[in-house]
Amino acid sequence: MSALRELYQEVILDHNKSPRNFRRMEKPDRKVEGYNPLCGDHYTIFLKLENDIIKDICFEGAGCAISKASASVMSSLVKGKTKAEAEMLFNSFHRLVTGESDGVEEIEKLGKLAAFSGVSEFPARVKCASLAWHTLHAALASNEHRVSTE
Ligand code: ZN
Repeated sequence: MSALRELYQEVILDHNKSPRNFRRMEKPDRKVEGYNPLCGDHYTIFLKLENDIIKDICFEGAGCAISKASASVMSSLVKGKTKAEAEMLFNSFHRLVTGESDGVEEIEKLGKLAAFSGVSEFPARVKCASLAWHTLHAALASNEHRVSTE
């Protein structure tokens, strides 16, 4: 295993073991449930918005290590960002896990998100890794209550 792979593995293990922003929110502006029936990952994402800014974000639920670590990394990255910035991160993440990133430089710019680059080799896990992002995307667009990867 390369040093980079090991580092990526560590980020995922760490965020799975101690997920950031893993809690409920009272009176959220948006509350959307995301479900990945293939794996059974199931999370609810809570958002507090102020104009175009994500003032607060947290999530609760359960699922595999990749889905939980991804929700944790996602929540810590988008907090304090504008909706547009969050959508840009979502696009970069989507390109990363589907193997469409433009080489190592683009991946390195993604920081902790790059930990999920290995997922592109395992198509079944792409849905695990992207679940939280799709749920965030839905929550930013509207107050739909439930999204599914299917
Ligand atoms: Zn999963």
